[in-house]
Amino acid sequence: MKEAYLYDRLEEERVRCALCNHRCVIKPGKRGICGVRENRGGTLYSLVYGKVIAAHTDPIEKKPLFHFLPGSLSYSIATVGCNFRCRFCQNADISQMPAETGRIDGKDTTPEAVVEAALASGSESIAYTYTEPTIFFEMARDTALLADSKGLKNVFVSNGYMTPECLESIHPHLHAANVDLKAFTDRFYKEQCGAKLAPVLTTLETMKRLNVWLEVTTLLIPGHNDDPGELRELADFLVSLDPYTPWHISRFYPTYKLLDAPPTPPETVRRARDIGYEAGLKYVYTGNLPGDMGEKTYCPDCGELLIDRVGFRVGGVRIKNGKCAQCGGSVAGVWTH
Ligand code: SF4
Repeated sequence: MKEAYLYDRLEEERVRCALCNHRCVIKPGKRGICGVRENRGGTLYSLVYGKVIAAHTDPIEKKPLFHFLPGSLSYSIATVGCNFRCRFCQNADISQMPAETGRIDGKDTTPEAVVEAALASGSESIAYTYTEPTIFFEMARDTALLADSKGLKNVFVSNGYMTPECLESIHPHLHAANVDLKAFTDRFYKEQCGAKLAPVLTTLETMKRLNVWLEVTTLLIPGHNDDPGELRELADFLVSLDPYTPWHISRFYPTYKLLDAPPTPPETVRRARDIGYEAGLKYVYTGNLPGDMGEKTYCPDCGELLIDRVGFRVGGVRIKNGKCAQCGGSVAGVWTH
């Protein structure tokens, strides 16, 4: 157990957590919405510090990050808990464990041990992923600072609900992020995730301002967030942020509590990709469609195939010093360590 970062003490031993935009006010003896931060006598503690529930060495493409050290490995960790309640969560067994059962499972470890394991695995980065890194921020931040000092990069895979002050406090040790933009309506965020849209948009803007390499993912769920007009609005927002922001559009399969929606038809995913390009985005990808053309990176200037991918495997990379090997046009991303 570790005293939390980023909270305020209030009257009558209550505290207000400032890690994410729920900004929970927590009474003594109670936990926040994420279920992993507890007020004990007016002091807020993280219950998941050093309690790692998952640790794997993954291709960076699995995050997905397609423009950040392609073909490299990323040592990936998570604790239990989440500040969202997504009805379609693919990792609900660990993300919703504290909220649904009160349990905080995990193997005891330390930031030092995580960094050592990452280096031993041959990874070039550590990814804080599978659940939501914001809710294990103390562990993530301590690990990230140490990792950075040893030459490892740090990557968040996040729902983007952290506060600006949370992001500022890990800057500049956070090098890249893949943030879910789950839909472009407040209704979807409220009904499907128990959250709001606006703070996520602010996070995307803040990450851009802080120069964190950013890629965005949208899981396309038939009948819920696949309206072409809504997708165009979402894409327009990304263009206003930066047209060179990679956008990953993933195919949905029924899972957890969202079992009454069908798998996304592949043509719907491809149509969404077209909408992204029509809006002016330069790199738009299809996800969960192994072998699809939309997994590959093409030069926005000359159309040359720059990175050949099949699933999470990278074939040839035709980028030299951040430029297209064919026409010399710049390719947005982080290509060398
Ligand atoms: S991190 Fe947890 S306790 Fe803190 S504001 Fe978010 S949900 Fe509430």
